Amino acid sequence: MTPQSIDEIGFLGEIFSSFQGEGPLIGRRQIFVRTAGCNLNCSYCDSPKFRRDVKFCGVEDPSVPGRLRQAKNPINLNWTMDQVLALWTIGTHSVSITGGEPLCQPQFVEALAMSCSEENLPVYLETNGFSRSRFSRLIDWIDFAAVDIKLPSHRACPTHEWSCLVENELACIEGACRAGIATIAKAVILDSTSMEEIEQLCRRLEGLEVAFVLQPASGRGRPVPERLMRLHEVASEHLREVVAIPQAHKMMGVL
Ligand code: SF4
Repeated sequence: MTPQSIDEIGFLGEIFSSFQGEGPLIGRRQIFVRTAGCNLNCSYCDSPKFRRDVKFCGVEDPSVPGRLRQAKNPINLNWTMDQVLALWTIGTHSVSITGGEPLCQPQFVEALAMSCSEENLPVYLETNGFSRSRFSRLIDWIDFAAVDIKLPSHRACPTHEWSCLVENELACIEGACRAGIATIAKAVILDSTSMEEIEQLCRRLEGLEVAFVLQPASGRGRPVPERLMRLHEVASEHLREVVAIPQAHKMMGVL
């Protein structure tokens, strides 16, 4: 399949260059392609504006770093790639496809990942992993998978849908690990996150080559340090690589 054989338009929120602000690749320079629209409703969402389709996409002007000009949605794949290539500079690590939720636009995201791969640009996919089938279509084109695991305390979806959501997330993580993709499993930690939630989750991740990130929420709902440390110990009883990393891009004041 070539990118030309599949849907080439998408609804995007932003295209810009910045530093990865989360997880083990923190501080790496990336080009971010943020898709618009998400199927979940997490209590801690820091990009609520992009949970739904937006009329315009903010695109960084390479000649004026930090300034976003507006492009009307939907956006064409070729035009998206032109922006990515124009923003790519020496030292850029990868293209981060983020959201919103990228898996809500599977055809466009597949075409985008394929195009990046053809240009030899490594792809970092950040997803809530709600669909193992949509995720599996991307596996050949991605180099890094960061799957955001939703805990019951996140209230991301109605209670009766949660077990289906988490099974899909775990299947995405397992699939990515088995494919040899550098895989990150991330859980946002709130002051209400329980030891039991983390214990149960880590039991399911046991044996997988995964970096497990405890990401303390910022602002309201932030966990006290003692809770974070205890959760780290609980997770470390099951997993080899457990790290607590807050969001750094906010501290740096970058996009
Ligand atoms: S999955 Fe991400 S974009 Fe969607 S509501 Fe949750 S935090 Fe926000």
